[in-house]
Amino acid sequence: MTDARTVNSSRTVVLHARRLCRTYDEGAGRVPVLQDVNLQVHAGEMVAIVGASGSGKSTLLHLLGLLDVPDSGSVDVAGQPTDGLSEAARSHLRNRALGFVYQFHHLLPEFSALDNVAMPLIVRGQPRARARAAAERLLARVGLQQRAGHFPGQLSGGERQRVALARALVAEPACVLADEPTGNLDRETARAMFELLLDINRSLGMAFVIVTHDPALAALAHRQLTMDAGRLDPAC
Ligand code: ADP
Ligand code: MG
Repeated sequence: MTDARTVNSSRTVVLHARRLCRTYDEGAGRVPVLQDVNLQVHAGEMVAIVGASGSGKSTLLHLLGLLDVPDSGSVDVAGQPTDGLSEAARSHLRNRALGFVYQFHHLLPEFSALDNVAMPLIVRGQPRARARAAAERLLARVGLQQRAGHFPGQLSGGERQRVALARALVAEPACVLADEPTGNLDRETARAMFELLLDINRSLGMAFVIVTHDPALAALAHRQLTMDAGRLDPAC
């Protein structure tokens, strides 16, 4: 079968979470936020996570993105176990293998769209000209070639999110973690953004884990999971 939603990449596992538990201190007690969450994401796969506000979706993405550490359980990124890694090694793996898109774009207001997209490569020590060439290609890929010199304040909400997506893609991550990337957009712009994510997933082959409130958008992904009070359904 070769419909648009078929995963045709290899079955390499890019993210593997096992029995993740996370508890936060809350006043006098400790509140469990994630309970025994298992998840495997394969190369080229697009997974959508839906669930009520406060159910633990962002907490899970932080753990998958090595921005937070579980109380128990483990996360492998691009085949590498992360248990016991130093903060520097976690950062290195994060920068090499993962991209992030958030509900709010977090672009640097004093830099052009082009420089925002080039930034992850420049920070990593790539020559500026090469970083900018890569950024130009990615901006073209998200349909913003004509906006390269614009500053974030001169762009629409949808355009800013597309710049943020280009920035997440510029270092060619194996997997992009997107936390409500369409949450701040009107319905039509949200749909266009989600379709762009699908298009990038198909053409560039990165895996995506996307948190969304919108079941109609989630239905476009290869796989839909629901977070309910810290548990992921169906368990996988
Ligand atoms: P979602 O993204 O599904 O809305 P979150 O993962 O942000 O949910 O939050 C899940 C639960 O964990 C919520 O009850 C929230 O209040 C709590 N929580 C999240 N982050 C923290 C934190 N840093 N400290 C204490 N509680 C937190
Ligand atoms: Mg959240």
